[in-house]
Amino acid sequence: MKQEYSAPMLAPKYVSQFKCTGGDCPDTCCAGWNITVDRNTFQGYRRVTHPVLKPLFKQHLVQANRDSFSNHGKFQLSASESRCGMQAQSGLCNVQQHLGEEALSDTCYIYPRSVHKIDARFEQTLTLSCPEAARLALTQSDAFEFIEIPFKTRESTTRQLSPLHGFDAQTMDEARYLTIQLFQTVELTNVDRLILVGWLCNQLEDLMQTSGQAGAMAMMQELREMVESGAYRQIVSQLSNDPRLAANVFAILFGSPVGTGVSAHQRSVIDSVAAGLGFTGLAQPDAKTIEANYLCGLAHLANSAELVEKILARYLLNDLLRELFPWGQATPIAHYRRLLTRYGALRLMLAAVAKHKDSSLDESTLVHITQVFCRLYQHNNTFAVQAERLLTGADWHTLEQLYLLI
Ligand code: SF4
Repeated sequence: MKQEYSAPMLAPKYVSQFKCTGGDCPDTCCAGWNITVDRNTFQGYRRVTHPVLKPLFKQHLVQANRDSFSNHGKFQLSASESRCGMQAQSGLCNVQQHLGEEALSDTCYIYPRSVHKIDARFEQTLTLSCPEAARLALTQSDAFEFIEIPFKTRESTTRQLSPLHGFDAQTMDEARYLTIQLFQTVELTNVDRLILVGWLCNQLEDLMQTSGQAGAMAMMQELREMVESGAYRQIVSQLSNDPRLAANVFAILFGSPVGTGVSAHQRSVIDSVAAGLGFTGLAQPDAKTIEANYLCGLAHLANSAELVEKILARYLLNDLLRELFPWGQATPIAHYRRLLTRYGALRLMLAAVAKHKDSSLDESTLVHITQVFCRLYQHNNTFAVQAERLLTGADWHTLEQLYLLI
């Protein structure tokens, strides 16, 4: 039996409204990606004698990595539909139905939630790869008001944030608050926010390299003052971006097949993106065609600019929270590169679909595309590996180079 605990958790308001839509879900999480099983659960399943479950476990539960705890086993997906073999005809999970929620593996128990412990505080967010979570987070104006909710979870699915890179817990918290605040400051555009967050990450990195961590609070105060006084506008106005370059960098993600296990719900978006960029069958468009299609899509998006800005800001804010930005990757700049990759790839998808439809996009289409993007990035190995490699080359070492992509 897994150790559970109850605790008040700080969460965006939309988290408290979440309820799995089960059989009505258009893109179930029980299909299309590796459903991992931790070692304890794996061994428990092997001992089950229940007449329905025993043959199912025998058929579908296989060992993944003998030496790994969290990735010890996995459920084999059915070849025809890429669905988890433990799913009943009704769409319900056989494990949950016959053994209860406590028998679920950590992956199935926690999805789509993420729980973090920071000092003595617990925080919870949802991944927007779940369609219902995406709908709640992206469409409501008060989705990101923070509230405290009592919640029960497992110790084994709680990720703890410990002091890193010589910064103390208070400084790390302050950097997180500041980035969250920037994404909630209505006077700022997403471009402003991304530039300012890049500056923050660069400064943190400099402090790490010069053992100057003690100066972090003063640096963050300086950034706050720049925003409050409007002085940041001068910095932003001096920077240039290059949408043609961004188009060709992020289009790489859509030039090759994204692998198996893609649902019809995902396929409709992926095909529309490829068509919008000019990929037809095996034919690869040249750079100029991709650029022209992307710019045409951006022009369509400009007709619903306020809505697009809002959806992108909420998506980015959710990712910052869920990934403990800027502390969730090897360094703050590494995390910033990942944030830019996500922003750039999602914006490209939105523009490409707008080009393909030859119109601006309504709210439900924007939510659909964002959810599919999250599903690909988080659960499709082929796509994720390519995306992670995009900005790791020598061209992306400096902030000026990265700013070109915004
Ligand atoms: S993706 Fe979300 S709504 Fe759909 S089945 Fe999974 S948890 Fe439920």
